[in-house]
Amino acid sequence: MKIAPALLQQIVDHARREAPVECCGFVVLRDGRAVDVVPVQNTAHSPLRFEFAPADVLALGQVEEAVIYHSHTRSAPRPSQTDINFAANWPGMEWLIIGVAGDEPEVRNWRIADGQVSEAEVQVEG
Ligand SMILES: [Zn+2]
Repeated sequence: MKIAPALLQQIVDHARREAPVECCGFVVLRDGRAVDVVPVQNTAHSPLRFEFAPADVLALGQVEEAVIYHSHTRSAPRPSQTDINFAANWPGMEWLIIGVAGDEPEVRNWRIADGQVSEAEVQVEG
């Protein structure tokens, strides 16, 4: 996926605002390029996992092309076992994770299929 710096900044700001609780939301894409960031509430209110409200799951279901994002506030931005289990509900989805444990935010994108994790591309460009 490609994302403009200003949109990525919205996600980083969301992550920092919610820390130490994980933030979550989704990015609407068009032809692989981010066009909108939709922050949603983490109804789990947890620093270790996230959950979408049913209405937000429905909203995401209406979007043709999207990636789900969430933050890791205490660990590296790699999918946790909880994320891998959760991803089983969203086949084909990419997962953008924003690590805000260190001074500099770290953004990585992942594909999770059948419990297997592989890194997906994320290009930050205007
Ligand atoms: Zn996670």
